[in-house]
Amino acid sequence: MVLELKTTAQVVTLLESGSGSLYFGEAVTQLEHALQTAALAERSGAPDALVVAALLHDIGHLLHGLDEQAADRGIDARHEDVGESWLASRFSPAVSEPARLHVAAKRYLCATDPVYVSGLSEASRQSLTLQGGPMSDSEVHAFERTPWAQDAIRLRRWDDAAKVPELRVPDVTHYLARIDQYVEE
Ligand code: FE
Repeated sequence: MVLELKTTAQVVTLLESGSGSLYFGEAVTQLEHALQTAALAERSGAPDALVVAALLHDIGHLLHGLDEQAADRGIDARHEDVGESWLASRFSPAVSEPARLHVAAKRYLCATDPVYVSGLSEASRQSLTLQGGPMSDSEVHAFERTPWAQDAIRLRRWDDAAKVPELRVPDVTHYLARIDQYVEE
């Protein structure tokens, strides 16, 4: 229980460290983006683990300490990998896997859903190139067979919508019990 509280406290510290930095090229901070993604998941009736995954999907940005100019400088932070190893060592796969796969889900949706592509923000279009562009047909088929891929796709759509300036959503404390519930150390 002590360890669980420790991880939850780390999560709060990391997320709150994102209150001062803009989310890569968007008009919201990293903390606002995380809270909006989680709120959209909750509003969609997602299972608790997926709500937690939505809250933590970009934790790699905050672990890495790269600023919002990274995409402009042509640096792919590989934040899903950094975040995935941090999450995978602390959380159930129902949380860590959708987070790990959320960039792959963007490449999947760009290959399979023309409406999705037309709705991407400018910054998200720019980072797509750094992330490998749309998936090939064989990548699409492999992704569809990956466990947690459908959760990652749902998460991705909330992620893309979670960029609304000044939106009022619940704060981190709203999610503490659910974060605790999925800690596995
Ligand atoms: Fe995100």
